[in-house]
Amino acid sequence: MRKILVTGGAGFIGANFLKYIIEKYPEYFVINIDNLTYASDYSNIQKLEQYKNYKFLKANICDQDIIEKVMIENEIDTIIHFAAESHVDNSIENPFIFAETNIMGTLNLLQQAYKEWFIKPFEIKEKYRNSRFIHISTDEVYGTLGEEGYFTEDSKYLPNSPYSASKAASDLLVRSYYHTYGMNVITTNCSNNFGPFQNKEKLIPKIIYNALKGLDLPIYGEGDNVRDWLFVIDHCTAINAVLHQGKVGETYLIGGHNEKKNLHLVHTICDILDERVPKDVSYRNQIKFVADRFGHDYRYAIDPAKIQRELNWKPQIAFEKALEETIDWYLIKYNEG
Ligand code: NAD
Repeated sequence: MRKILVTGGAGFIGANFLKYIIEKYPEYFVINIDNLTYASDYSNIQKLEQYKNYKFLKANICDQDIIEKVMIENEIDTIIHFAAESHVDNSIENPFIFAETNIMGTLNLLQQAYKEWFIKPFEIKEKYRNSRFIHISTDEVYGTLGEEGYFTEDSKYLPNSPYSASKAASDLLVRSYYHTYGMNVITTNCSNNFGPFQNKEKLIPKIIYNALKGLDLPIYGEGDNVRDWLFVIDHCTAINAVLHQGKVGETYLIGGHNEKKNLHLVHTICDILDERVPKDVSYRNQIKFVADRFGHDYRYAIDPAKIQRELNWKPQIAFEKALEETIDWYLIKYNEG
């Protein structure tokens, strides 16, 4: 029986994970803290209110008093930390909120957990001997790859955007609580996720939305950038494996060897839409190449050998099927289904 604090559960991955964990482990108690920024959508998790093992609290992860109170009152022994400012383009416009939420928010969670779980460094309270802090991070902390090679757990931290730099800083703080205080921490660095519940500022929902509304489908540069796509439910099963079998102090890279050039991905989405909701001309005609993002990383790709080998995890859902399911979900959401 775990008492879990999930942060950022009204966002994309957090909402998918909450649904997954609450249904899979009815014996676990889960409290979700989210301050409902523009990136969240409470309607995605409203239905969870029916579960007796679940509670929601609107709060900021940077608030020391509230996090301390939540830890004590709910006897939290597990933190799964998703909350973040997550959009690279926004981080270029306004980096300060990224430092605040991603760095200071993570530090606050670590420190409040330390205060509640420990008597002193490396001396944990008996009640919390199974405690665990899982930090959900991104492969973007490793910077960019050329045409070849993969990120591994040994790759150098070389973040290129204010977003990835703030996530890198948070990863290092998490690491420090393991080495300095003996906290049971694990960091996961995942590749690009897709699936239901994502904000339409992100590539896949934006393309579907704009296509349906007859708007341009903006593609940075020439659409050559490569991302390694993972269905969000596969990410949830990976986090579940880490929660139950992950080794203390370790990092796990999560990905499914599913690299796509942005232009290829957008073409695929257009082709599926052409079948689902045909128009006179293909949605491909709406594609518009726009000036590239500053500091745009060329390629991300993960070697997931460690999590496959040590935790026996691998993605279960084929990309094409998952993309079709995802598109069908957004067709309903955007009222075209
Ligand atoms: P998201 O932007 O969809 O959701 C973030 C959630 O955090 C939102 O509900 C927001 O309201 C909440 N939040 C933001 N600031 C907060 C604060 N100060 N206090 C409380 N809540 C706050 O993000 P996502 O795509 O679901 O990503 C979740 C995590 O996974 C992030 O840490 C991100 O870095 C990481 N990640 C995302 C991807 C991806 O492809 N989306 C890939 C790898 C890792």
